[in-house]
Amino acid sequence: MNLLEMRMIAKETPFSVAGGEFRRRCSFSAGKSDLRLDDDTAKKPRVAYFCMEYGLDSQLPIYAGGLGVLAGDYLKAAYDLGLPMVGVGILWNQDYTHQYIGEDGRPYDKYPNFSFDSVKDTGITVKVRVRGADVTCKVHKVEQFGNVSLYLLDTNFPGSEHGWMTNRLYGGAAQDRVAAEIILGIGGIRALRALDIDVDIYHMNEGHAVFCGLELIREKMRQGMSFKDAWSETRKQIVFTTHTPVEAGNEVHDHGLLQHMEVYNGLTYEQAREIGGDPFNMTAASLRLSHIANGVSKLHGQTACRMWKDIHDAACIISITNGVHPQTWQDEGIRDAFERKGDLWEVHQRNKGMLIDYIEQHCHTRLNPDALIVGFARRAAPYKRSDLIFRSSEVIEPLLMEGKIQLVFSGKAHPQDGIGKDIIQQLVRMSKKYGKSVVFIENYNMEVARHMVRGCDVWLNNPRRPLEASGTSGMKAAMNGVLNLSVVDGWVGEGLQHRVSGWLLNPILEANLNEWEQDEKDLRELYRVLLNEVIPTYYHDRERWIQMMRASIDMSRWQFSSHRMIREYFDVMYEVTRSAQDLDIPSMPVGVYDESERPGYSSPQDEGRW
Ligand SMILES: *Cc1c(COP(=O)(O)O)cnc(C)c1O
Repeated sequence: MNLLEMRMIAKETPFSVAGGEFRRRCSFSAGKSDLRLDDDTAKKPRVAYFCMEYGLDSQLPIYAGGLGVLAGDYLKAAYDLGLPMVGVGILWNQDYTHQYIGEDGRPYDKYPNFSFDSVKDTGITVKVRVRGADVTCKVHKVEQFGNVSLYLLDTNFPGSEHGWMTNRLYGGAAQDRVAAEIILGIGGIRALRALDIDVDIYHMNEGHAVFCGLELIREKMRQGMSFKDAWSETRKQIVFTTHTPVEAGNEVHDHGLLQHMEVYNGLTYEQAREIGGDPFNMTAASLRLSHIANGVSKLHGQTACRMWKDIHDAACIISITNGVHPQTWQDEGIRDAFERKGDLWEVHQRNKGMLIDYIEQHCHTRLNPDALIVGFARRAAPYKRSDLIFRSSEVIEPLLMEGKIQLVFSGKAHPQDGIGKDIIQQLVRMSKKYGKSVVFIENYNMEVARHMVRGCDVWLNNPRRPLEASGTSGMKAAMNGVLNLSVVDGWVGEGLQHRVSGWLLNPILEANLNEWEQDEKDLRELYRVLLNEVIPTYYHDRERWIQMMRASIDMSRWQFSSHRMIREYFDVMYEVTRSAQDLDIPSMPVGVYDESERPGYSSPQDEGRW
């Protein structure tokens, strides 16, 4: 596809994605409006992106994991492409957790306080009402990590009585959560007003930000609109991304608590219930406050549609697959060698050596650079099955004893998650048992991730399907020529080709397997592919391995980049929404979204910006 064709597709997208109904309504408008729409699509809508956490750099620890790192990558992609966007978040006084392994092999949590040098005080403050108090929030600005401006709200400054509200990311009890959510949503909108930043579209990245909708409604009601009209006008301004394919992962609050915390922001109980139900479901509310919503991989979009199909009057859920920021995650040497058709192996061995040094410093074990290293770094959650590979010791033990396979693990458990901590304890036990071949790197963060996704040979991913919404660490690995060995879940089914750019486990999903059967089946397949494919190729067919590395980089560098992702958000979420605003169409047609109408996002060969 050439440049011109790409531009044309980009222009057509807002019309084609919405399906027949929307298109019909658009084409009803006579020639003049068509022209106006064309002009408008040329000018990008201005977007405010709301998220509870941001992973921009390990110097600024205000993230817990995948959601935050995605948000950080997003703001960097927006900056690279010169897009009109700002981020809104919270300046946490303490990180999620710094998690280390105790003498007993169990993780424990530390919460250092930060003084952030990288954060500038804008001098602006805003007030929000929380639990009977007028709470002052300072607004800070971050812009030095190659990102568009990120505004962070903070109640934790000398003289403030309300420091607890932004004390610790995902810490504390429900009251702490709700207080932080009020600050993000309601405070975030007020901050944008105080900063005099004009916004066309508000993007709620996950349901934590949903109260921003209540503030947008209040603003309109203050100008005399009825609740219904204010709600429907607000919906046109909001888009929503959901990330959780598990029912229990979606936050729900009791109305008694919401009232006590003063979340309603001028609305009545009945009105709040219309939006979020009773109890108040943050995801359902987000779907009713937005115009269009999305899941974070094709598969997850479908899963989310099924999950929320009974929510009355919800936004249509489409799919936009995640991507990662190449300049942050791909080693420059690898990129260079790929582009110049240079020696990928040599660069890879250098990256592997750096990982081995890092592990030696942190775990006091020196791995062998000439033996296969398989990496696995995830939040400790049972569905991710970190311990799957150990489940049949007859198979795995000889490989570990001989040093044919070396396993590198990392990951945190939520501080209040005992089961997650058990999982880590089990991995630490394995690292003690198989001394030289298994290591666990404590305190997983962007720095650890950076080393692992560059320096391992293989990246293992074996969640129970379809519970992994997207997964992004495998994309980072793929871009570095680290070969994915993965169950087909999240992003994996969309690009990875078996034995070409990685290895797929059980590509055909059999319905009706119970957990135990699924585990058995995946375990057998994992061993089969390891023994028959991965190990022989690594030790006896280096040339093929390098070919696969090349295919992996080629497959991922555009398709799973944050630049492709953000472009899709503009094309199919923001600009569609804005066209609807201009045409005064009350909402997008709800219904089945037709994937076949989506343009292919092939790599823009000679196009730096768009
Ligand atoms: C990329 C990344 C994640 C997300 O990876 P998943 O594959 O979704 O588990 C989590 N934490 C950190 C520190 C990361 O860099």
